[in-house]
Amino acid sequence: MSKRKKYLLNPKTTTLHINGACCYTEGNYTEWQQFDTEEEVYRLLGRAFKMCKVCARKRDEK
Ligand SMILES: [Zn+2]
Repeated sequence: MSKRKKYLLNPKTTTLHINGACCYTEGNYTEWQQFDTEEEVYRLLGRAFKMCKVCARKRDEK
């Protein structure tokens, strides 16, 4: 079973992804920051990140 949390932040691009929602979360993610909720991300980073467009669309579909 994966121990990855739901939200994954790529520290190089400061882009937030949802686990499994797009191809960017596959493969090399060991240095990525992980979060359980979007709220956690805002608390830590404020607006200093951007949401992946692919992941945002997947999220909004549900
Ligand atoms: Zn994404």
